[in-house]
Amino acid sequence: MVTVRLKSLERIVEELKGFKRVFIFGCQIGSARCKNGGLREAYKVAGFLEGKGFKVTGVKSPGGTCILEKLTSKNLLREAEESAEVILSLACGAGTQLIAENVKIPVRTGVTTLFIGVEREGRFFDEYCIACGDCVISDTGGICPVARCPKSLVNGPCGGAIAGKCEVNPDIPCVWYEIERRLEIIGELENVKENVPPKDYSKSVYPRKLILEE
Ligand code: SF4
Ligand code: SF4
Repeated sequence: MVTVRLKSLERIVEELKGFKRVFIFGCQIGSARCKNGGLREAYKVAGFLEGKGFKVTGVKSPGGTCILEKLTSKNLLREAEESAEVILSLACGAGTQLIAENVKIPVRTGVTTLFIGVEREGRFFDEYCIACGDCVISDTGGICPVARCPKSLVNGPCGGAIAGKCEVNPDIPCVWYEIERRLEIIGELENVKENVPPKDYSKSVYPRKLILEE
C-alpha cells in the first residue's frame, strides 16, 4: 500500500491561511489503512479547523481517491467546489493531484506521502518496494534488496554489516543476510551465485505509464 503521514494540525492551519470555507477529502484506501488520512482523521482535522475559526463545508471520501471514476461518480467534487474556497485532501500525492486536476478551486494536502510498504499489527509499516520498474525479487527469495538495503545493492552485501545488522541503519537487519537465509531454506542459493547485470534504472525514469490492453 501507499503510506502517508498526516501533517501536524498547526501546519495544516498554516497551509489553509487566507481561506475560510474548507472541504475535506479523506481516503479510505491507503490513508485510512495507515490511520493518517482516512475519514476518522478527516473528522479530527475538521474539528480542529472549526475550533480555529474555519467553516468545514463537508468531510467525505469517494472510496478510492486516486481512481478517476470513483472520484467523480458521486458528485463530491462539485459539492466541494460549490460549498468551499479550498479543498484539503488527506489522500496520497496521486489522489490529491487527481482531485486538483478536476476542480477549479485550490487544493491543499494535509499529508505527506511516504512509501510503498507493508503493515503489521495495524501500526508498523515498513518500506518494501520503491517501484524500480525492473523487479529482481524472483531471484532473491522474494526479498527486495533495492528497497530494503539502503545502498540498493543487488549483487550481495557491502561487507559492512555488524552482527547481521545493517551498517547504515543498525535498527534493521542486513537484507542480504535475510536473502541468504531465505534462499538456503527454499534451496535456491544458486540464484545469487552469478553476478546480476547492473539494474536498468532507465525503467524507473518518471513519470511512468501503464496502459492495459483492451
Ligand atoms: S526490485 Fe524493484 S519492483 Fe521489485 S520489489 Fe524491489 S523495488 Fe519493487
Ligand atoms: S549492511 Fe547490508 S543492508 Fe546495509 S548497506 Fe550493507 S548490504 Fe545493504
